[in-house]
Amino acid sequence: MSEQILVDASGPTFFHPDLFVVPADGEAPYLLGYKCEDCGKVWFPKLEICPECWTDLKQIRLSRTGKLYSYSIIHVGQRGIKAPYAVGYVDFPENVRIYAQLAIPHDQIKLGMDVEVVQGVVRMDKNGDPAMISYMFKAVE
Ligand SMILES: [Zn+2]
Repeated sequence: MSEQILVDASGPTFFHPDLFVVPADGEAPYLLGYKCEDCGKVWFPKLEICPECWTDLKQIRLSRTGKLYSYSIIHVGQRGIKAPYAVGYVDFPENVRIYAQLAIPHDQIKLGMDVEVVQGVVRMDKNGDPAMISYMFKAVE
């Protein structure tokens, strides 16, 4: 298999390995959707079967870019995330809406803007060092 998830045992934990792929060859990261083999609807995150027709799902590679549907600036956040930080929902061409942190300067966030999937630090430890790596969205350049 050419696609491998980069894991450094001494570094931060790579979160969501069944949802998010960072190719070892340096290719851009992408998310995994789960497509119903019957109705064709795409689900995210992973489900065992399609909740609408109870059919098996096939793992697919989602588009790398989507459009920002909604966002919020969090001023009193969870432990391990430095506030203020932005979160948002992004609509992908596969007709699936995905939530994540936004790696975008807050004054540049606009509804409907094009964003892409990137790898980022989603949690820090009590010393402020990276504790968990996962997907985030940043503006398409
Ligand atoms: Zn279905």
